[in-house]
Amino acid sequence: MLAVLARTDPDATKGAKGLSLFIVEKDRFDGHKFEMKQAHGGSLIATADRTIGYRGMHSFSMTFERFFVPAENLIGMAQGVGRGFYLQMAGFAAGRLQTGGRACGVAQAAIETTCKYVNARRQFGHATINFQLTQHMLGRMAVRLAAARAITYAAALEMDHDERKASLIAAQAKLFACDVAVDITQQCQLLHGGWGYAEEYAISRYVVDALVLPIFEGVKPILTLKVVGRGLLAGD
Ligand SMILES: Cc1cc2nc3c(=O)[nH]c(=O)nc-3n(C[C@H](O)[C@H](O)[C@H](O)COP(=O)(O)OP(=O)(O)OC[C@H]3O[C@@H](n4cnc5c(N)ncnc54)[C@H](O)[C@@H]3O)c2cc1C
Repeated sequence: MLAVLARTDPDATKGAKGLSLFIVEKDRFDGHKFEMKQAHGGSLIATADRTIGYRGMHSFSMTFERFFVPAENLIGMAQGVGRGFYLQMAGFAAGRLQTGGRACGVAQAAIETTCKYVNARRQFGHATINFQLTQHMLGRMAVRLAAARAITYAAALEMDHDERKASLIAAQAKLFACDVAVDITQQCQLLHGGWGYAEEYAISRYVVDALVLPIFEGVKPILTLKVVGRGLLAGD
């Protein structure tokens, strides 16, 4: 299944008001490329975008050519025409909340694997955990992760309570937890020294996986400006 936001009003000056949301059924495919053909000649061609990380969940570039979608697949039916953008936006609080959760998970994994590494790695006659600098770095990371987890759980509670009011705190949780995940994974990479850059060690994957977190579900500067900053000024 694909959720496709498509321009249904050819008048481009209508901007977001000219978009509608469709559920598009597609055949099941494995792999990084697929082509689906319809009996009347319509086609959908899709290719996975190669990325530096986050390879467990691919994004695909898709080309729809005369692709037929039944009218009943328009979300909201007649009332959904031109409302696709707003329907999509309503789902973003949940997406941002779970991105905050994913960020906490990556940061936690980075700290756990680094604690094991610094206990095993010996330099100048000591395990590197025995250097106070290592302990200080890990201590600071643990505090920042606890804060990221706290705001993410606060957003989840708000979501359980009243989803319509959760959008500001969900955006704040996403922004903060994703920054923390990028920072923690990179600090942990430094604590691995040269091995932190080797694919043999999980930390190198956590670093590239974390890099996408401030980009999707709303790129960081725009989310800060349009959702958090303007929400604050609007009295949210
Ligand atoms: C791995 C991955 C998975 C994704 N999965 C999904 C998905 O499942 N569903 C989905 O819908 N999307 C998905 N996305 C898309 C993602 O949400 C967008 O890439 C992201 O929101 C940023 O939009 P953009 O790429 O169009 O960036 P742009 O809009 O081109 O923004 C790039 C930069 O331009 C500047 N800019 C843009 N607009 C303004 C403005 N108004 N004012 C000032 N500066 C501005 C900012 O500096 C911004 O950081 C995914 C992306 C990735 C990388």
